[in-house]
Amino acid sequence: QAKAAGRNTACFFDPAMAAAMEARVALLAELRKARTLDQLHLHCQPVVDAAGRIAGGEILLRWEHPDRGWIGPSDFIPLAEESGLIIDIGTWVLETACGLLRAWETRDWLSPDFFLSINISPRQFRQPDFPGIIHTAAERAGISPHRLKLEITEGMLISKLDDIVPILAGLRAAGVRFSLDDFGTGYSSLAYLQRLPLDQLKIDRSFVLDLHHDANDAVIVRTIINMGQSLALEVVAEGVETLAQFEFLKEHGCGLFQGYLFGQPVDTDSFGAKLRAGTRLAP
Ligand code: C2E
Ligand code: MG
Ligand code: MG
Ligand code: MG
Repeated sequence: QAKAAGRNTACFFDPAMAAAMEARVALLAELRKARTLDQLHLHCQPVVDAAGRIAGGEILLRWEHPDRGWIGPSDFIPLAEESGLIIDIGTWVLETACGLLRAWETRDWLSPDFFLSINISPRQFRQPDFPGIIHTAAERAGISPHRLKLEITEGMLISKLDDIVPILAGLRAAGVRFSLDDFGTGYSSLAYLQRLPLDQLKIDRSFVLDLHHDANDAVIVRTIINMGQSLALEVVAEGVETLAQFEFLKEHGCGLFQGYLFGQPVDTDSFGAKLRAGTRLAP
């Protein structure tokens, strides 16, 4: 079979590929144990309004590996997704995030509209009882579902809209909100977006990054903001690093901002301290 695949095709006799596969298998074995070993941590990055007030936060997963140090989600979420481990990890993220909301609410640190954004992977979303898992997590923690903003991506919406819309609509009727993450990198048309019960669009960081060097990106950003406005959706810009980017986005009607200009992702105690202080994260 390997021979039939041809000389230029990587096959399982390729030593480099075999080594890479072995490394992935090893990493996955470690990842399986990471949660019980208390190596997974949630960080949180502020999302601010045009005045720099904290409107919400995004939960971002981190792995504190005993030998390799901190590992970012891009280096292990795909593995968790492929292996199905993301179901376990994702449920834990959700439950932990709900617990945080409860703790902050109890201390009276939250404004009425404060939301916590949680990234949902395609595999999680496709679980048969995805809505049940969300409801249970919110109920157990004793928080209102309206505090939860679930971030989904265009990629997972490729499948039949008829299957997806009822799931979104059902959860939304219970107060849960939805954000379309990394917007602009996929294929969504305006007509398509119109059918989805969403609350928020997140402009992908790549467009914000080149706003002032690439005329196309500036056009794309303005178009996304306009699309959001026509559909009555909140628009968040991610990866805002400079004052110039912030000014441009604000001027063109973007309402919410997330990026190093306002704060990096920090551990949840530090985030709680920001909430408690209630100070503006003015650029
Ligand atoms: P994302 O959801 O698009 O998250 C935004 C990413 O941009 C985060 O990377 C954040 O740290 C980074 N970021 C925010 N502001 C700036 C900025 O001003 N400059 C730069 N250079 N980067 C900025 P991070 O934490 O490495 O997360 C990467 C991706 O991993 C996330 O992208 C999300 O897709 C995924 N992810 C993170 N946590 C979870 C999780 O709990 N579950 C799932 N399924 N995916 C997660
Ligand atoms: Mg996100
Ligand atoms: Mg994003
Ligand atoms: Mg992104």
